[in-house]
Amino acid sequence: MSAWSDGFFSVGDNGNAQVNPTKDRDSGIDIAKVVAHLERKGITFPLLIRFQDVLKGRIEQLYEAFKDALTEVEYGGTYTAVYPIKVNQLHEVVEEILDAGKPLGIGLECGSKAELIAALPLLEDDDTLLICNGYKDSAMLDLILSGQQMGKSVLPVVEKMDEFMSYDSQARAIGLAAPFGVRLRLTTAGAGKWADSGGDQSKFGISVPELLRVVEHLEAHDEQDRFRLLHFHLGSQISDIRTLKRAVREITQVYAQLKRRGLGIRYLDVGGGLGINYGGTYASHDDAINYSLGEYANAIASTVKEVCDAEGVEHPDLISESGRALTAHHSVLIVNSIGLYSKEEAPEDYTPGPDSHRLVADLHALREWLREEPGMAMPQLLEAYHDAAGKRAEADSLFSLGYLPLEEKASIEGLYWAICRTINDRVQTWESEALPPELDRLDSHLIDQCLCDFSVFQSLLDHWAIGQRFPIVPIQRLDEEPTRRAVLVDLTCDSDGKVSSFIGPGHREYEFLHMHEPNPGETYRFGIFLVGAYQDIMGDTHNLFGRVTEAHIYADADEPEGFYVEKIIRGTKVKDMLALVQYFPNDLYNRMSRHIRSKVQSGQLKSSEGYELLERYAETFNDSTYYTAPSTGPTVSGSRKRKVNHE
Ligand SMILES: *Cc1c(COP(=O)(O)O)cnc(C)c1O
Repeated sequence: MSAWSDGFFSVGDNGNAQVNPTKDRDSGIDIAKVVAHLERKGITFPLLIRFQDVLKGRIEQLYEAFKDALTEVEYGGTYTAVYPIKVNQLHEVVEEILDAGKPLGIGLECGSKAELIAALPLLEDDDTLLICNGYKDSAMLDLILSGQQMGKSVLPVVEKMDEFMSYDSQARAIGLAAPFGVRLRLTTAGAGKWADSGGDQSKFGISVPELLRVVEHLEAHDEQDRFRLLHFHLGSQISDIRTLKRAVREITQVYAQLKRRGLGIRYLDVGGGLGINYGGTYASHDDAINYSLGEYANAIASTVKEVCDAEGVEHPDLISESGRALTAHHSVLIVNSIGLYSKEEAPEDYTPGPDSHRLVADLHALREWLREEPGMAMPQLLEAYHDAAGKRAEADSLFSLGYLPLEEKASIEGLYWAICRTINDRVQTWESEALPPELDRLDSHLIDQCLCDFSVFQSLLDHWAIGQRFPIVPIQRLDEEPTRRAVLVDLTCDSDGKVSSFIGPGHREYEFLHMHEPNPGETYRFGIFLVGAYQDIMGDTHNLFGRVTEAHIYADADEPEGFYVEKIIRGTKVKDMLALVQYFPNDLYNRMSRHIRSKVQSGQLKSSEGYELLERYAETFNDSTYYTAPSTGPTVSGSRKRKVNHE
């Protein structure tokens, strides 16, 4: 946890995962206590917890890093962060960022018409920046101009030459010498999964020849001061700091030359891309980044300064559009384990009956032999495995041809898995030895499946789409040795709905997660961390699983448990998900009622039974779309429980 959590998460003395909003371990908040508190309020799972203080903490860290970097290199300009709301548009998240960032002068960035419409009224101060990226139609350009007429600092970033021409003529029509910025298509391409956001082949930005046409247009009207900002964006999660430095050098060169030509550029905007160290290693690898916040700020400040000094122009004010870096840490998804399944092995004391099938007896003998020879070397273990696999294959073909009863097949499978387990337990202790492929694979065949109450498609979309790994940790019993190994499978009827690639120590990709044997009556829970960027908002409704329940938590030392719940947003109900695909409760109820009535008329059901069935059906409209546990915890099972859900 210390490798990826930036100090915000750790393990408490009681073995529970804790969040440290102030990065001080001693004043950390026990996550299991937060969950228990919310459970008492009758919330449903999965549960997304937002730690609003962490959001604030990240803003302060980012500003701190730039403050230090600017001081260090004796930089002549300022730094401002603008939050790109596409990363997480939730109203409370944006408000919290504006609140927490107000003393530091934070601004916003939007990339579509709907985002602009949401962001514009949030600008309380006239000098709070709103940067508008994305393709802009005339309605969007009009709205930007309205914002400027109101005296707000709204700055469109021109993406295309014709967009510039429309903006120019719409501004002229209302007599405004409207300022703007330009997104430049750099030659430097990004690296990693979002590399196509920059470089020659990018769909974004204007080219250098087009840039010169914009400049000539301004010069012809003597309006050089309208050009306020120069922007690039290399793509999210820049994994290698060298790529960033190349891009910054390239754009600063453009800035310096335009500045010398007399343009009024004030801001250099380095876009987003400040990465998160999901993997916990400093490697330029898909899940990791090879730099810290401090190095990121230093790289930008020192490169810009160096180029500007060499070209003899003043240092621009710096802007970064860091979204992922601000929001990833603040939310944690809590999911319940609702079942742990392993390959069923024949019991230790299993002995075949006298007329068992030959294959059953053979496998049993093989198992006995393994037991008697605990010190077997690799070649013998390999031979034992080949024997077992051969017998099992033989059994499968006999079964398909009708020569093996189902009961015998069950015994054979149980013995086969018991043998595999024994062999695997032994070879796994020989850590340094290179294993033959069939023994190496054995390990992954023996990993358990843990069924979890969530949907990968709703809550962890990037894991499914691009194989992004997130830190996943049980939130309890972290002071006990975990004895089970599992992949997490979700509730969807989709074989892709699973997590089978995990972060662990070092650079390795782990195919399983260590977990504990759940105790009887215990609800065993996992925290999926660093999901505050993109995952909350991009999720889809595969199998009609809806948005999860959310709770917003603030740290407060005066509260008995060190926190208070500021808000709970209930997860989507069944009826809301159905309405998205045009099914409505009234119609469904009437149809169901018609079926039941006809069964009552024909005598197949008593009227009291029919009534009961219909009521039970109608109650489900208000259910959560996720798994409703039968009767654990403080809530009650049956229809009373449902009442709790639709409060
Ligand atoms: C998506 C996006 C961002 C945010 O990128 P992060 O990597 O999340 O910081 C910033 N600027 C633009 C133009 C974007 O499209």
